[in-house]
Amino acid sequence: SGTLYVVATPIGNLQDMSPRALEVLRTVALIAAEDTRHSARLLQHFGVSTPTTACHDHNERDKSVRLVERMLAGEDMALISDAGTPLISDPGYHLVRQAREAGVRVCPIPGACALIAALSAAGLPSDRFAFEGFLPAKAHGRRQRLQALAVEPRTWMLYEAPHRLLECLEDMLDIFGPERQVVLARELTKTFETIKGAPIAELVEWVRADSDQQRGECVLIVEAMPAPEESEGLNPEAQRVLDILLSELP
Ligand code: SAM
Repeated sequence: SGTLYVVATPIGNLQDMSPRALEVLRTVALIAAEDTRHSARLLQHFGVSTPTTACHDHNERDKSVRLVERMLAGEDMALISDAGTPLISDPGYHLVRQAREAGVRVCPIPGACALIAALSAAGLPSDRFAFEGFLPAKAHGRRQRLQALAVEPRTWMLYEAPHRLLECLEDMLDIFGPERQVVLARELTKTFETIKGAPIAELVEWVRADSDQQRGECVLIVEAMPAPEESEGLNPEAQRVLDILLSELP
């Protein structure tokens, strides 16, 4: 059967398009794109004339059935989204899943991904991390999620829409207190790229004071829950038991 290539595209700077991605896009039979009109501009820029078909949140399940049939019949296809890596807060999960279940080879063509780019420049611990995608749009749901994240022991990241950034930071200030370190990574790879890390109270003031910071695309990277203070010692009962055990040791 054919292969499904999952192809990352740039998140702003077109030079982040890899030669391998371009070669794949030129040679496959069909490109499944989140928004064919949006992708037309990218493909035209690189002189790729491969036909495209729409594969987005609203038609993906049904569409995938037909696309997988064509791959089983031998055609190679590529999946792209509007920007960055497909399936990362973007469509593609159903197509990849159905392809794999049908035994079609799925081959990733890695490239730009906003969360990884943000993490790589944030200067927060990155040995373990969690990605939260988008928080719920409504205030109540968002605050509930933030409350659960207050005790997250790993650095965590989320995508936020520019018009909700300030509200989201204000909720964080409310729930996490003023000291938690947060990094705002805006407009990555673009002309006005800004990466600003500060204790949350300071970051809120900074964003409030400069409406330019409330435009464009952004990722928030949040410091893990601070480790509990080294305790002064065991509680007295535990200490008593430990003393007994230690005295029994040879
Ligand atoms: N699939 C994409 C990826 O690999 O990063 C993410 C798609 S998601 C629908 C779009 C969100 O990603 C934006 O709201 C923003 O949070 C983030 N994002 C995308 N491009 C960005 C950029 N150049 N700078 C900062 N954040 C970006």
